[in-house]
Amino acid sequence: MKQSMTLIPTLRETPSDTEVKSHQLLLRAGYIRQNTSGIYSFLPLGKKVLKKVEEIVREEMDNAGAVELLMPAMQAAELWKESGRWYSYGPELMRLKDRHDREFALGATHEEVITTLVRDEVKSYKKLPLSLYQIQTKFRDELRPRFGLLRGREFLMKDAYSFHANQESLDETYNKMFTAYSNIFTRLGLNFRAVIADSGAMGGKDTHEFMVLSEIGEDTIAYSTESTYAANVEMAPCLVAYEKKAEKALELEKVETPNQKTIGEVADFLNKEKTDIIKSIVFKVDEKYILVLIRGDHEINDIKIKNLYQASVVEIATPEEVQKVIGCSIGSIGPIALYDKVEVVADSAVEFMVNAVCGANEEGHHYQNVSPSRDFEVAQYADLRFIEEGDLSPDGKGIIKFAKGIEVGHIFKLGTRYSEAMGATFLDENGRAKPMIMGCYGIGVSRVLAAVVEQYHDENGIVWPNAITPYDVHVIPVNIKNDAQAALAEKIYNNLKNARLDVLFDDRQERPGVKFADADLIGLPVRVTVGKRADEGIVEVKWRDSGELEEISVEELIQTLQ
Ligand code: ATP
Ligand code: MG
Ligand code: MG
Ligand code: MG
Repeated sequence: MKQSMTLIPTLRETPSDTEVKSHQLLLRAGYIRQNTSGIYSFLPLGKKVLKKVEEIVREEMDNAGAVELLMPAMQAAELWKESGRWYSYGPELMRLKDRHDREFALGATHEEVITTLVRDEVKSYKKLPLSLYQIQTKFRDELRPRFGLLRGREFLMKDAYSFHANQESLDETYNKMFTAYSNIFTRLGLNFRAVIADSGAMGGKDTHEFMVLSEIGEDTIAYSTESTYAANVEMAPCLVAYEKKAEKALELEKVETPNQKTIGEVADFLNKEKTDIIKSIVFKVDEKYILVLIRGDHEINDIKIKNLYQASVVEIATPEEVQKVIGCSIGSIGPIALYDKVEVVADSAVEFMVNAVCGANEEGHHYQNVSPSRDFEVAQYADLRFIEEGDLSPDGKGIIKFAKGIEVGHIFKLGTRYSEAMGATFLDENGRAKPMIMGCYGIGVSRVLAAVVEQYHDENGIVWPNAITPYDVHVIPVNIKNDAQAALAEKIYNNLKNARLDVLFDDRQERPGVKFADADLIGLPVRVTVGKRADEGIVEVKWRDSGELEEISVEELIQTLQ
């Protein structure tokens, strides 16, 4: 590609309102442009990288036995009402109406569409298991779109869904997906960890996140120094202490918190407080009570408190009502996970959580009045651990350290959550109708692009790993008006293209300094400079990652680069 013919609008200055390197560099090097908050155009270079990431994802998905399809981004609201998520997803779901006033959602994820699709087309166990995936634009009205491609409101996701006749089959596919994900992130050159998600509260055997290690990551993970044990500490009670936010949380002492009785009051309270919920989890305690754990950033009387935990035990009539109430109250102001699988949480576990999360800490501070009934039946003690840095790893191997991570992938055993709600059943060998068992598997394709840049850059620009570089080689004649240089550069350009390399040819009439600075910024692995020694057929090769320079003949060049 001749640079004069494409669009690579580089910027010398770091754009304002950009906090992280990937955002700054992708803008400066002309890969992306912002349309409006959280919404971006991919310019030609950005589009090329996206395509390469997509191809790696496709190859590994196909290897894992999944088949590609494409579903609509605009979806009838009825589907979301059927699953209940129209009410529980909250304002992150983009909603719109057509000219006839019919309601729609823009796909934030596709469980509803795929479940109804498979429900209508697959009736027998003979057609199972079935794994389908797509790579498609997703829409989420994130409360705080930020960090460029890392948290957008419109972004590219690979989402896969699997359907099974039994649990063993789901486990098998889940493991295949786990391997496929590990392959993908390894091929992308990323330094990552697969972590147990929601470790603190749920044991989390059924869901893993893939985290790219990075200082700017929004998640905190606890990992072992000696083994593969790693968990997202999202809900681990230790977070308050670990993140040293405790001092801030103490300010809450000044605040009178109401004794919450109903979930509606909880919602009102959080609304009034301007709570930005990071995570909320509801435990079904019994038919009468649920325990709501909320982690969020609060603003109370102009005091900002980050990462505060709150817990409330709330009286509810039935599980259905739990879902309904949560849907239109808490669910409408933040993400919520309803763990209805925990039949009964032991009262000791409740007590433990309440104390650890929001009750008395070492200094004896109470953040909130919580008075759980003690009528709770004892059944299951959730896998709660109080992990801190320096602890022995739960698997007994090595000690625990904390790190920040960017979530680039998430795999999840859904079970029958959607198939039951939407009537996706199949007939088993004995002709009995059963709900299909499901799994879902996401990768943030556009987020991955930014995550790679976070790990691959230096002070001069991006340093692409070979696997996803937009072009393999950057050919730069120092002076395009010099006939010998122009002719040799053109010849090299054609020869490298014939050797099936993807070449960017800087044929612009710019000063050498400008061309070199742009080349470093854009970050292709190899730069070939055609300069003074063009007459002799000698060029200079520069390797972007090491900065190493080498003068070689044109003949050698092709051999070296192939
Ligand atoms: P996060 O915790 O960062 O909000 P999520 O858990 O809501 O992500 P999932 O529903 O698990 O996201 O979606 C699958 C993948 O899509 C995520 O692992 C992530 O890589 C990507 N993703 C999610 N939200 C965004 C976003 N706003 N911008 C870019 N990528 C995203
Ligand atoms: Mg999210
Ligand atoms: Mg997440
Ligand atoms: Mg996730």
